[in-house]
Amino acid sequence: MSMFCYQCQETAKNTGCTIKGVCGKNEEVAKLQDLLVYAVKGISEIVVKTKTNAAELHTINHEVLTSLFITITNANFDADAIEKQIVKVLGLRDQLAKDTGYNGNQDAAVFTVDSRESMLSKASLVGVLATENEDIRSLRELIIYGIKGLAAYTEHAFNIGKEDVSIYSFIYEGMAATLDDSLTADDLVALTLKTGEYGVKGMALLDEANTSRYGNPEITSVNIGVRKNPAILISGHDLTDMEQLLEQTKGTGVDVYTHGEMLPAHYYPAFKKYDNFVGNYGNSWWMQVGEFESFHGPILFTTNCIVPPKTPEVAGRIFTTGAAGFPGCPNIPADENGKKDFSAIIEMAKKLPSPDEIETGSIVGGFAHNQVLALADKVVDAVKSGAIKKFFVMAGCDGRMKSREYYTEFAKQLPSDTIILTAGCAKYRYNKLELGDIGGIPRVLDAGQCNDSYSLAVIALKLKEVFGLDDVNELPIAYNIAWYEQKAVIVLLALLYLGVKNIHLGPTLPGFLSPNVAKVLVETFGIAGIGTVEDDIEFFMNA
Ligand code: SF4
Ligand code: SF4
Repeated sequence: MSMFCYQCQETAKNTGCTIKGVCGKNEEVAKLQDLLVYAVKGISEIVVKTKTNAAELHTINHEVLTSLFITITNANFDADAIEKQIVKVLGLRDQLAKDTGYNGNQDAAVFTVDSRESMLSKASLVGVLATENEDIRSLRELIIYGIKGLAAYTEHAFNIGKEDVSIYSFIYEGMAATLDDSLTADDLVALTLKTGEYGVKGMALLDEANTSRYGNPEITSVNIGVRKNPAILISGHDLTDMEQLLEQTKGTGVDVYTHGEMLPAHYYPAFKKYDNFVGNYGNSWWMQVGEFESFHGPILFTTNCIVPPKTPEVAGRIFTTGAAGFPGCPNIPADENGKKDFSAIIEMAKKLPSPDEIETGSIVGGFAHNQVLALADKVVDAVKSGAIKKFFVMAGCDGRMKSREYYTEFAKQLPSDTIILTAGCAKYRYNKLELGDIGGIPRVLDAGQCNDSYSLAVIALKLKEVFGLDDVNELPIAYNIAWYEQKAVIVLLALLYLGVKNIHLGPTLPGFLSPNVAKVLVETFGIAGIGTVEDDIEFFMNA
């Protein structure tokens, strides 16, 4: 077996990619990512064993976030960039061992490599399958994937200048625990829930970072057509990149459009002042194949969701920044103040044709917690009068699998007295359907990016309070969530930590769950997969 990765929903045969990733990740990149994760475990081991205070580890904290982020699905395909990061992290690890007087012999904390070849051989020994017991392996990986998602969200908050040292401390604790052979399955189940607790903290931190800097998202109609100017497409999650791109394109005659998970940037008041911020182009991440061809202008990836481009023409228009990377595509670095120079992208845009129109009209979003709570009276009245029978949280991800058509059908067939609460790129499966409204409340309320699932939790907790209930599960809310990659794993763990039960997860349950671990999730939390649209709607409406 040349590689092994089963961290995402599209993993081969739902058991693991072993020759090449379905995502396009090759053996070399997969192994280097495994080694980078192992190096982070080594740093974590030193921090935990020497009881080092994470507050003293500024550079290391940040590099740990970036390293974990790099290993998320679809984030970084650039072997040279990952190798550089391994060298950097091992240098930091060794300096930390010296500074803290670490005298342990945990392999992750002391191993050495001196070439690409030695990195690849070492990686073969320390990847996912190094843990033989399949239940322990499953729980360790569940924790690691949750922490990867947490690291990604924490990095975006960091870029806005918001940090919470307790999150770093937990990342070290969690990653070090995955090396500890004395921990039982029960210990790891407890740590899984603790990962969810920090998931809530991480999403709350990012929410605070985004809203304190850019204002609270508000109801917004987003144009999905195009103008005749040259243009840049920006994808991903990072709002500081969005802000800098808008500042630098202002007055240049170059328009800016969002793609995929960047759509919710339109909901923030701070970005509405830019008259070159035109609209959203296309759909969710996997639809970039085709949509990037017709866009014609340069594309900036601020996080993951890269699909390896099919043609050199498209590849030649791709730029990355932050943790994202693709071989041959420039990665725009930040200076010591976080400033980035996007002039090369702007200059390229000026020379390229304007985008082809692929659709017209608009879509509405901006229903994050502040906006929905402003409408709380209306919502509560509609529930009390019976106009709204049930809310369906359909947050999460989109992906390539045909089976995801289930979510479009599900949305179409839901009774007209139900409301869909969404966040993440799952929304593209139904946000262009004409589903109407209930007394002026749209039937699809989009809170924003997948991290804005936090908003959906805040809304649920508020409704629990308003209705005077003891348990969030007594609310008329059903959870039918779609997942794809590791940010969705931390969202799921956060919901479990908040006590949400009976979540249906699809289109398939994670391949990394061993039968025993899946059984624990089913028995303790009522997690279930999906069935047919008709059966599931009947089940949910009568639950
Ligand atoms: S990220 Fe997903 S598709 Fe890519 S190699 Fe891993 S499991 Fe396979
Ligand atoms: S919604 Fe899912 S696929 Fe989209 S960015 Fe978030 S975790 Fe990734």
